[in-house]
Amino acid sequence: AAQDRVFNFAAGPAILPESVLRKAESELYNWRGSGMSVMEMSHRGKEFLSIIQKAESDLRSLLSIPSDYAVLFLQGGATTQFAAIPLNLCTQSDPVDFVVTGSWGDKAFKEASKYCKPTLIWSGKSEKYTKIPCFDDLEQNPHAKYLHICANETIHGVEFKNYPTPKNGLMVADMSSNFCSKPVDVSKFGLIYAGAQKNVGPSGVTIVIIRKDLIGNAQEITPVMLDYKIHADNNSLYNTPPCYGIYMCGLVFEDLLAQGGLVEVEKKNVKKAKILYDAIDESKGFYRCPVEKSVRSLMNVPFTLEKAELEAEFVKEAAKEKMVQLKGHRSVGGMRASIYNAMPLAGVEKLVAFMKDFQARHA
Ligand code: PLP
Repeated sequence: AAQDRVFNFAAGPAILPESVLRKAESELYNWRGSGMSVMEMSHRGKEFLSIIQKAESDLRSLLSIPSDYAVLFLQGGATTQFAAIPLNLCTQSDPVDFVVTGSWGDKAFKEASKYCKPTLIWSGKSEKYTKIPCFDDLEQNPHAKYLHICANETIHGVEFKNYPTPKNGLMVADMSSNFCSKPVDVSKFGLIYAGAQKNVGPSGVTIVIIRKDLIGNAQEITPVMLDYKIHADNNSLYNTPPCYGIYMCGLVFEDLLAQGGLVEVEKKNVKKAKILYDAIDESKGFYRCPVEKSVRSLMNVPFTLEKAELEAEFVKEAAKEKMVQLKGHRSVGGMRASIYNAMPLAGVEKLVAFMKDFQARHA
């Protein structure tokens, strides 16, 4: 029953809209008169083809994806893309620029070093990944094949608020944790990639949006499964795709369109994040968010308690009130509340009320 559900603040896999789960439940045994579950369908049958095509066209509407971009539904998580991107866009000796604003960008940088020659042109590590650089000050390599950024660092809670135009054109962005949370001008990017399991579906689906002219130059050693041309030529059906996950993503895209699209979704996200950050900032230091104000993530809100010894108690008491997964990532400690699209305003309001009450009892 609905009242048994918790407010799940996990960073991913994460909360999904209840209406989407209900719809999936109602179609679980018999998808729209087919007599089959989506899990049982041939990926080449007309039923599944209609599902994947609708998912793609709804995503295209949501993000206004230009027609010279391909949309690929892949597997292997965003982590696989850390390798696939240089394998497809570079030769082994091509230079690439990385701006690293958190641990995901750092992982992408390290993986890319196996397949091209990346340079770290900016790192926020010495400031504990609490900042985003000003692009005008960056020394970009004019020969770099692309500039890689992580649009939203899930662990550290730093988010690009506007996307700069790199001096030599091509930008590649990991949008795993803020995908479809706000409108994005896709034409500014050569490639956008995202694991689905935060904002748009279950784990197992990875979405790549790539400008078509960049497809078709993969390195010889590129595994078939990582070659964008293979997937683009076969409309993401070269091999068996993650069918059920793609179906779920499709239901989420329908839901986001029904909400009025990403302009409306962003308004809700801004409102939720403001309530939470205000509560942290107004707590007179009882709670603290280390991230520079102008680049605080709308999706992942990390915070610490002044009295660190109370953190375990905070997590425990919150869980008793059905607010779960609030412990920060093991690498940074503290707390983290992930408030993706599907987190209702009521969930954030409940968390804030709990934080105030906890502070009153422990200050
Ligand atoms: N990039 C970002 C920003 C993430 O948050 C994550 C996820 O957890 C990853 C990459 C890795 O994604 P995956 O686990 O799908 O490989």
